[in-house]
Amino acid sequence: PTHRDQDRSTESRGGMIPLGSPALPAVPGAFRNTPDTDLSTPANQAWAEQVTHRIRGSVLGEEEIRAARVDSVEGVDELITAALDAQPGWAGLGVEKRALVLRRVAGTLAAHRAEILEVMASETGKTLEQGDPEVSEAIDFALYYAEQAERLASLDEVSFTPRALTLVTPPWNFPVAIPTGGALAALVTGSSVIMKPAPQARRCGAYIGGLLRQAGVPEGVFTLVDVPENEVGRALISDPRVDQLILTGASDTAALFASWRPELRILAETSGKNSIIVTPHADLDLAARDVAASAFGHAGQKCSAASLVITVGSVSHSRRFSAQLADAVLSLHVGEPTDPTVQMGPVIEQPGEKLTAGLTELGDGESWLARPHQLDEEGRVYSPGVRTGVAEGSAFHLTEYFGPVLGMMHAGSLEEAIRIQNGTDFGLTAGLHSLDPEEIACWTEGAEAGNLYVNRGITGAIVQRQPFGGWKRSAIGQTAKAGGPNYLVHLMDASDPEAEA
Ligand code: GLU
Repeated sequence: PTHRDQDRSTESRGGMIPLGSPALPAVPGAFRNTPDTDLSTPANQAWAEQVTHRIRGSVLGEEEIRAARVDSVEGVDELITAALDAQPGWAGLGVEKRALVLRRVAGTLAAHRAEILEVMASETGKTLEQGDPEVSEAIDFALYYAEQAERLASLDEVSFTPRALTLVTPPWNFPVAIPTGGALAALVTGSSVIMKPAPQARRCGAYIGGLLRQAGVPEGVFTLVDVPENEVGRALISDPRVDQLILTGASDTAALFASWRPELRILAETSGKNSIIVTPHADLDLAARDVAASAFGHAGQKCSAASLVITVGSVSHSRRFSAQLADAVLSLHVGEPTDPTVQMGPVIEQPGEKLTAGLTELGDGESWLARPHQLDEEGRVYSPGVRTGVAEGSAFHLTEYFGPVLGMMHAGSLEEAIRIQNGTDFGLTAGLHSLDPEEIACWTEGAEAGNLYVNRGITGAIVQRQPFGGWKRSAIGQTAKAGGPNYLVHLMDASDPEAEA
């Protein structure tokens, strides 16, 4: 989305945006991406100050999450029964009415942008700069899936039937856009949804659940549940009445769930080990900026984040690019999310063994271009780390660390760089910086990742424009891309109307 001069201070707060307001396209085919907040205008800066003031004391979502707690296998059973009871009525409403509810959700999200940013920052440490586009993305999902559902329903050659019950298990790193997107995609098809937020982002999930209810999603059709990750959680995920699971999280989690119930239909977007190639034909200023933003936005805690930059030929030998990258990285404003100007905030919790190794231990031949430093007492805020000399096949080349640390690798040619880039088990995002059309064509042909970006950062996929999903170990159900035209198709059963007649 482009930064238009939106004035957030004049937006309505706390209420539902009336249908037919400009935020809600009335004409099918009118989908437009929602603009982010332009934080350079004084009015929006004042608005951001107000939001960040409230972060420390925020309790949003607390009540809802208490109400969603289920501690027993019987409780899970009741919940599933209620969701299944509610589903036929919801499916029977028809696609127009369900799409209307999604458009109302979009309006409700827009009217609560400030509160959503508040709960994200207070619970997960997401900065305003990173959280704001996430709210826009959630609104985009609502409007886009509403439109796509209507489009699919109007096709003559095929008809779709909903699946009764969808389970959504979103991650903590995008605690608003991903739960909203997953839940609404399934809801608009006519499915009931049970959503279990990530333990680190319960209040975010609960707050979003409250907004869905406010916008008119009926009780039972959408249920928020907070289950412990023991036999109770397992009972939910392995219940045979669950038709499908939309999961975003670690590859190991997806594999575990699949092992519990092998026949469960899973649409999963999982881990990544993503890199950006920079060739001698690149605009190096742009490349340095994009690499820094992709590596350190949300402190590197995105499945899509750049964890490696692979420099080709002379880019590695001249000092220019590493100097530019060091400048871009060291000038990032690091701190607490209670400061609206902070670009890189804390990590979600004190680093575990793996991330600690990523932040402290160097492999053979590696050295620090920028050594990460702990900046707070608790051990959650770090300055960005950049290591050079990462060798092909080394731990840093192949492991996802999910934090503020980037590795630099060197390749003699573009072909070699592509081989290094493809050399991991994962394939979520990949980038190329080059202005040479032949290099771009060669790379596009050879890169093995779900989302390929040329001369752009590799995070922040935009609904409709960059449908998002992975390859290889980065996905299960890899043809389904969130925010793309075929996503809903993967959530329904297709039948040929002629054959049925
Ligand atoms: N869709 C996000 C992006 O394009 C990444 C989602 C994730 O980290 O799971 O940056």
